[in-house]
Amino acid sequence: MAIRYELIKECKQTGARLGRLHTPHGVIETPIFMPVGTQATVKAMTPEELKEMNAQIILSNTYHLYLRPGHDLVRAAGGLHKFMNWDRPILTDSGGFQVFSLGDLRKITEEGVEFQSHIDGSKHFLTPEKVMEIETALGADIIMAFDECAPFPAEWQYVKDSLERTTRWAVRCKAAHTNTDNQALFGIVQGGMYRDLREQSAKELVALDFPGYSIGGLSVGEPKELMYEVLDYTTPLLPKNKPRYLMGVGSPDALIEGSIRGIDMFDCVLPTRIARNGTAMTSQGKVIIKNAKYTRDFTPLDPECDCYACKHYTRAYIRHLYKADEILSSRLLSTHNLHFLINLMKQVREAIMEDRLGDFRNAFFAKYYGETSKED
Ligand SMILES: [Zn+2]
Repeated sequence: MAIRYELIKECKQTGARLGRLHTPHGVIETPIFMPVGTQATVKAMTPEELKEMNAQIILSNTYHLYLRPGHDLVRAAGGLHKFMNWDRPILTDSGGFQVFSLGDLRKITEEGVEFQSHIDGSKHFLTPEKVMEIETALGADIIMAFDECAPFPAEWQYVKDSLERTTRWAVRCKAAHTNTDNQALFGIVQGGMYRDLREQSAKELVALDFPGYSIGGLSVGEPKELMYEVLDYTTPLLPKNKPRYLMGVGSPDALIEGSIRGIDMFDCVLPTRIARNGTAMTSQGKVIIKNAKYTRDFTPLDPECDCYACKHYTRAYIRHLYKADEILSSRLLSTHNLHFLINLMKQVREAIMEDRLGDFRNAFFAKYYGETSKED
C-alpha cells in the first residue's frame, strides 16, 4: 500500500478528525489545505517558498499536463516530483472535471470521453485506462480515478446514470492501475445533491476498497448550505480508517465547516486566483487592495499574519504594485493567501487536538465576517 491513514483523534466538540497520512514522499498532517499547481507550478511560487510557508502537499492537473507538455515528457524528466523540483507529496486529479467543463467540445460514451483541446483544438480521447497511464507517468503519490462531475443543477436520472458510469470507470481504473506500491488511487463519490444517489455512489465505491475517497461534484455553483447538507450525510458513509478529500473547496469558511464534517483534505485555486485579481484573505475578511481606502494604509495585509508579505510590506505598497501592474503584487498576495489557508488549517488541527474546534469556528467567523459582507 502506498499510503496509510492514521486517525489520531476526533474533536469532542465537533467530531472533526485529526490525522496523519503517510505517503511515499513524507507524512501529511490532516486536515490539510493543498495548494494547486495546475501546470506543475503553484502560480508565481517557487517550491522553496511553498516549503517556507509549510505547504505539505500540492496538487497538479492531469488534463493540463497531458495536453502540455505531455505525460511522456514528464515521465522522461523522471516524473512530476523531479520535473518541478518538489520532493514532498503530490496529488493529481483525473482530468474529469476539466474535460466535463468543456461543454460542447466533448462527447461522452461508455468507453470514455472525446474532446477537443482548449489550447489548439486537437482531438483527444480519454478513457479510464488512458487516465491511469497518464497519472502513472506523472507519478504523484495520490491519484484520482476518472469520473464525471455532474453539473449543478442536474436531473436525478442524469446524475444516476452518470454516477453509475463513474463506478464502472472506477472499476476499470482500479484494474488498469498497477503502480499500487507507489501511488494510492482514490475513488470519487458523486451523486449530485441527491441523498439516495450519494448513498449509492459511496456504497459502490467503498465495496471496491480504495485506499482513500474523494467527494466530487460539490462547489459547482450550489449554495454552501446545500454543500454542507450533502457532506452531513455523505462523509459518515466513508470508512473511518481512510482519508477523505473534498475536491475543489478552499474558502476559509468551507475549510472549517468541511473539517467539522469529517473531511481530511481540501484543494482550490481560490487563494492564488484571487491574489492575481488583487484580493487578500485576512483574519478580518477580504481585503480588496485596489480600493482607495488602502492608498495611504501603511499596515500589513493582515496584522495577525507572520508571512513574508505581511512581515515586510504594507497595503499601500502592494496597492501601488497592483495599480502599476507589477508582478510582485501577485507574488506577495499569493504568498499571503496561501500562508493564510495553510496556517488556518494548522489552527484547525490545534483546535481539534484540544477539543475546541466549535469555539474556534465561532471566534473565526465573528472576526472574518465582522468587517466585510458575508461572502467567500
Ligand atoms: Zn500575510
